[in-house]
Amino acid sequence: MDEKQKIEFAQKPKNFTEPWDVAVIGSGPASLTAAIYTTRGAASTLILGGEKWGGQLMLTTEVDNYPGFHEGIEGPDLMQKMRKQSERFGAEFIEKNVEAVDFSKEYFELTVGETKYLAKSVIIATGAETKWLGVPGEDRLRGRGVSSCAPCDAPFFKDKDTAVIGGGDSAMEEALVLTKYSNSITIVHRREEFRASAAMQKKVKDNKKIKVIWDTQVKEFVGEQKLEKILLENTKTGEKSELVVDGVFVAVGHTPSTAIFKGKVELDEKGYIVVNDHTKTSTDGVFVAGDVHDYHYRQAITAAGFGCMAGMEALKYLDEKQGNKKQETTLDK
Ligand code: NDP
Repeated sequence: MDEKQKIEFAQKPKNFTEPWDVAVIGSGPASLTAAIYTTRGAASTLILGGEKWGGQLMLTTEVDNYPGFHEGIEGPDLMQKMRKQSERFGAEFIEKNVEAVDFSKEYFELTVGETKYLAKSVIIATGAETKWLGVPGEDRLRGRGVSSCAPCDAPFFKDKDTAVIGGGDSAMEEALVLTKYSNSITIVHRREEFRASAAMQKKVKDNKKIKVIWDTQVKEFVGEQKLEKILLENTKTGEKSELVVDGVFVAVGHTPSTAIFKGKVELDEKGYIVVNDHTKTSTDGVFVAGDVHDYHYRQAITAAGFGCMAGMEALKYLDEKQGNKKQETTLDK
């Protein structure tokens, strides 16, 4: 199909002293959906998408649960489509990280290197990052047998023995990806049951390459130049054991990407952004969408839904602000 013509609904700032109507920080489904809505609502929109743009779906293979793609779609393809859709309506996409934010000024300031971008409203959609176990050897052996992304690294473990740590959907997904390459996959889980969805659990249980070690924690990653084995401990009996593997994929959840927002908007005890009235943060004009506040659903489709909500709220906020300004001007006369 031919590329549809680009349509721009809003005039972009002419220089760095003029503010964007909306700046969206992040570039996963929440961010890009928000930008589709704000651009179509005639608000000039800047997406500060990060150096590694696209979020978690860039590390996923087939996505079968995003409506509209009845035969499934590869995660990176889905993100490309969303990005193109937002750009088609005039969103400006910058593949750089925001290093600092200042929400105390009339126009919010977002620092990227030497540049300070100004915005009348901000949508935070920075998502969440991989959580690590924090045990000895993990950091040192990362990239030398320790990974968190089977779709990225599984081919390095062709005909080798691997393990996956965790009991959620991510762990199941990592294990299933590995079955295409590895000789054997052992899931090590700290409890006696998985928290993954029944559908994912069934796929794992039906695959003969996958074994499970229950009630077990990883205590250490061992290896000189590369991973050689992991030391394990049974959480119920305290019994120690070791598992000789070439690769380990850690899939124990995520941490919200909120370091730059500490002290700028309210965060909860785990670092997620506290959300009020669906999409509002504690700072007027700053909205939030996706995994950076939602630790419950964490799906591409729910993130996109939150993005839509935040985009609509940002438009409403801009309208109200504009209305107030007009009123002030009329009264001043
Ligand atoms: P989850 O929080 O769902 O699961 C994390 C798993 O890691 C849990 O089993 C947890 O154990 C275990 N864990 C956490 N900390 C540790 C630790 N320190 N040591 C050992 N084990 C630990 O995270 P996921 O990333 O799996 O999933 C996040 C969300 O994304 C979920 O809502 C999931 O449904 C969704 N998702 C959906 C997919 C799909 O539909 N295809 C694919 C991937 C994710 P315990 O159970 O004991 O708490």
